[in-house]
Amino acid sequence: MAAEASQPIETRLFINNEFRDSSDKTTFEVIYPYTKEVVANASLCRRRKRCRHRRQRSIPSMARSRHRRTCPYLRKLSELFLEANNDLARLETLSTGRPISQFMDAHMSSELFRYFADAAWNSQGTASTYNPGLLRALRRRGSDHPWNFPLANFSFKVAPALAAGNTVVLKSSEKAPLTCIYAAKLIQKAGFPPGVINIIAGYGNPTGAALAEHMAVRCISFTGSSLTGQKIQAAAAKSNMKHCHMELGGKSPAVVFEDADLEAAAIQTQFSIQFNSGQVCVANSRLYVQESVYDKFVALFREKFAAVTLGDPLDPTTTHGPQIDAAQYKRVQEYLANGQKDGSLTQGGDANNGFFVKPTIFEKVPEDSRLMREEVFGPVVTINTFKTEEEAVQKANDSEFGLYASVFTKDLDRAVRMSKALQAGTVGVNCTSPTNAKDGAFGGYKMSGNGREGMLYSIDNFLQLKTILIKSGQGSASPLLKS
Ligand code: NAD
Repeated sequence: MAAEASQPIETRLFINNEFRDSSDKTTFEVIYPYTKEVVANASLCRRRKRCRHRRQRSIPSMARSRHRRTCPYLRKLSELFLEANNDLARLETLSTGRPISQFMDAHMSSELFRYFADAAWNSQGTASTYNPGLLRALRRRGSDHPWNFPLANFSFKVAPALAAGNTVVLKSSEKAPLTCIYAAKLIQKAGFPPGVINIIAGYGNPTGAALAEHMAVRCISFTGSSLTGQKIQAAAAKSNMKHCHMELGGKSPAVVFEDADLEAAAIQTQFSIQFNSGQVCVANSRLYVQESVYDKFVALFREKFAAVTLGDPLDPTTTHGPQIDAAQYKRVQEYLANGQKDGSLTQGGDANNGFFVKPTIFEKVPEDSRLMREEVFGPVVTINTFKTEEEAVQKANDSEFGLYASVFTKDLDRAVRMSKALQAGTVGVNCTSPTNAKDGAFGGYKMSGNGREGMLYSIDNFLQLKTILIKSGQGSASPLLKS
């Protein structure tokens, strides 16, 4: 299937509601991972100065366009995302290699912008009548970006940040900038005031680092690897102590007990690690199966896991795409080699076909192996055994990550005990990732991040708590002062 897009692809930076080339006209290549063809040359923002000027100039327009004035633009953008569904699906597939059949992100974005248009009204404070003579009011008042779900992550960040009355500079991932730049066309069409949303593209260094250390940026909402998250937090601490909200990596466990519906558990857990070729932060990459049902479960898992269709991600019948690029493919290969040294590869492996890796199973991998402890970000699962509930909890929690964990059992008491004991921001009982609740709180324990995202939570990441004290009536403001 041809990789050419049906219309010219916008590749420029979006600053102050205008598309422009980078000042030194530098670009970087965006490659379709299936054919390795260059599909676009995107403008590369390298100038720290440009970032600063635009950011500072746009701040007043943010304040002017708060809530009531911002809501209609958010609603309009929500409609435009739906209209652009097909273009966005194609661009996302061209830049990430995710099968087009799995694209639901324009609808998700539309829903988020529609929700936050109205949720902006909820960012209210509280008043206290307790302190005599004083009325206390609370008013609560930056983004850097990964490549695996570029459009969805755009919306998770930008919609609540705008609803909270901020301006945004979004740096898209150098691996998948196209849908973010396309979204800029929709922003322009929706008629947002200039400077409210600025979209730049470039590498982590210097572009992302420039945002992280920038004195005019007051908040960074970052989704990406734990390593980069650490660098951003260090840069924030060294610059202006900007607030950092982090959604980071994972090594999520799924625990299958002998009383579980094994067929359902196999269907769900294999999809979790195969979806988007394993390039999903919440993918259950570690399975722990009770010894008594291990063989039965693994047989079911293998059968489902192998039933994928590798092929051109633009073909609607394809269900398994390549890794996003040469670097990611090489990274997975290294873990395949490591796994073969430490444990047994019992299914899948390198497809020896472009950047494809087959759905891959390793068994009997020691718990201290790199494959068990580090995030692979590929379709690679380890399946190990446990005997008792205590052992399952100990193994599942023995990780620096804590993004998502799941447990499969029909015993309600055990489900409750396990969901309390598992150290993860989200616990699925008889379900696993990518299952999630839009109005739930999403985020990580430990190295998987801090803060939470979700319809009811994201606005708080972009607001400050302020106490306003208004002296009223005859009462004394302080017990130390005579009225
Ligand atoms: P990454 O950390 O390599 O890059 C993410 C972004 O950070 C990119 O835009 C990159 O340019 C930028 N960056 C790199 N170095 C930087 C620096 N020094 N300063 C500022 N910015 C910098 O991650 P990735 O490979 O793009 O994405 C995959 C990772 O993201 C995985 O670890 C995955 O688990 C994680 N992820 C987490 C979630 C979540 O919600 N928790 C969601 C999606 C992806």
